[in-house]
Amino acid sequence: MCAEQKEKKEAAVRTLLEENRIFYPSPEFKKNANVKDESIYQEAAKDREAFWGKYANDLDWFKKWDKVLDWKLPFAKWFVGGKLNASYNCLDRHVKAGKGGKTAILWEGEEGEERKLTYDDIYKVVNKLANAVKKLGVAKGDRVAIYMPMIPEAAIAMLACARIGAIHTVVFGGFSADSLKDRILDAQAKLVITADGGSRRGKAIPLKEIADVAVDQCPSVKHVMVVKHKSIDIKMKDGRDLWYHEAIGAAEDYCKPEEMDAEDILYILYTSGTTGAPKGIIHTTGGYMTSVTATMKWVFDLKEKDVYWCTADVGWVTGHSYIVYGALSNGVTQVMFEGTPDYPERNRFWKIIEKYKVTILYTAPTAIRAFMKWGVEWPNGCDLSSLRLLGTVGEPINPEAWIWYYKVIGKQKCPIVDTWWQTETGCIMISPIPGVSMMKPGSATRPLPGIDATVITAEGKAVTEGGGYLTIKSPWPAMLRGIWGNQQRYADTYWSKWKDSYFPGDGARIDKDGCFWLLGRVDDIMLVAGHNIGTMEVESALVDHPSVAEAAVVGIKDEIKGTAIAAFVILKEGNEPKKELEDTLKQHVADKIGAIARPSKIIFTAELPKTRSGKIMRRLLRDIGEGRALGDVTTLADANVVKALKDKYDDET
Ligand code: ATP
Ligand code: MG
Repeated sequence: MCAEQKEKKEAAVRTLLEENRIFYPSPEFKKNANVKDESIYQEAAKDREAFWGKYANDLDWFKKWDKVLDWKLPFAKWFVGGKLNASYNCLDRHVKAGKGGKTAILWEGEEGEERKLTYDDIYKVVNKLANAVKKLGVAKGDRVAIYMPMIPEAAIAMLACARIGAIHTVVFGGFSADSLKDRILDAQAKLVITADGGSRRGKAIPLKEIADVAVDQCPSVKHVMVVKHKSIDIKMKDGRDLWYHEAIGAAEDYCKPEEMDAEDILYILYTSGTTGAPKGIIHTTGGYMTSVTATMKWVFDLKEKDVYWCTADVGWVTGHSYIVYGALSNGVTQVMFEGTPDYPERNRFWKIIEKYKVTILYTAPTAIRAFMKWGVEWPNGCDLSSLRLLGTVGEPINPEAWIWYYKVIGKQKCPIVDTWWQTETGCIMISPIPGVSMMKPGSATRPLPGIDATVITAEGKAVTEGGGYLTIKSPWPAMLRGIWGNQQRYADTYWSKWKDSYFPGDGARIDKDGCFWLLGRVDDIMLVAGHNIGTMEVESALVDHPSVAEAAVVGIKDEIKGTAIAAFVILKEGNEPKKELEDTLKQHVADKIGAIARPSKIIFTAELPKTRSGKIMRRLLRDIGEGRALGDVTTLADANVVKALKDKYDDET
């Protein structure tokens, strides 16, 4: 065996050992953690309602609730009769407690522009904006669409809506006019808050121009308010459009927060559309605020001095819960960044961490895999010593990426919280609590206290060790209250598969230590020659090979096997897409999982079709693999990727 081969083999053995290793937080981390021992799980299990009631008390209520839970499947009411306001909890109470001078948002623009906003600053402008929005005739219960770049005004607009009881629906600023139109029409929004433009790799995205195309087809919209951000030329429509800064300039200083019922709607958010047409998920006020505030403290172990950075966009649920509501209600200092990780160079994230001395980083596996592909020299060139905790969300993280994140970014001293949750769940559901839980690369470990998650078989039997369907057996405070305008779809999608449990659509496996391994969507699970194989397992095995940066696997119909496995593979820089490598990779999967999982086809590609939130759209890959016309592509980040892939696939087969 040549030296290079030997080294590769040894490296593979090392990773294998590490993948199966259990990691623990350092004694130092444990000593200072917000949650230090197991008792929190036991307390929750003993009396779930009393437990959540205790955490609801961490919020400021105008009126306390009469009853914690009213549950008539599939409809839950939490904190019945309670009155509160989300913006009051994110702002007023900090200002009243004398913490108005604390920095809330450290904003950085793509070209390095900086802004620093304190809680006082945000409080003042939210009050003014709330008054300005009211003046436009927007009242409690009306819908407001927010179509913004990653600037503080996005959070400010959300909080101003919450203050007056208007329901916001944030549409990610990367969506097209058509997608924006569909969401505005579905929500019947009266007002759209947008900006003249946003930044993307040195170019200005003409947000207002895109919004105009959408709004022209939406009769419900009476006004469009525009934040001047990029100072690009735009057309303002007389009588409909107004400038944000002018509206604020003319507004009164104080706006009394609306006393919202715990069950009044806080927002509607459309899911990212990985599986099909997006659903308008409804979240209400009391239960949602309770869960996001508590989970933020437990999972991110938040401390007064932390500098927290969640790299998600406010347009996704991660941004709603852990940039805006859960983060601000806890009074954090956080970094907000309008830009991409590779502009102007591939070290942008690490530069930001170094500059602001970020202590907690929360990002997505898709980003981590890109960083791995770019190489360690980028993070190694920056000082990351301020970091003390790392998190991931959005997709399962393969063990290889987990270990890389742990070593290269966390320098083996930062616990990693792999957080499983959904737009629908509102808050993190399965994740380590870093001062208490063990960690396993690739596993989100166990359900948080107060979350009654389990895995069941196709027959509905609970699994103590083994694979099946993930379900949530009891209601939890931040759970969705329905799908906007379609409660039948709500009941059918989430509550019909099992009689009395919530079905998130994901598969999972519980191991001998009781740890949960998320396997991806059950629709993606492949039945090959009578065996269930998770796409995630095969993808992990592929990414484990030193030449592979990212992989997406789908099952396609096969006359002989029933289902054959097709793998779409992105190679790390410096590797050639050759036939020998294809065979090596097939064998590598067979070695790691078994011959049954050996892919029939490997298609090398430079990119994979992803949603705008960075998730792989496997259903489109299945369409390609089975030679069908492509399904709904409106939530795709870049339609050219999938077209090119389809052409390549058709050529090669
Ligand atoms: P749609 O429901 O419209 O198809 P989506 O499911 O991608 O879109 P989100 O609510 O943003 O929309 O994503 C939630 C899903 O993301 C989960 O159901 C799960 O499949 C996946 N996910 C999120 N976090 C994790 C994680 N830590 N581990 C594994 N999977 C995760
Ligand atoms: Mg989903």
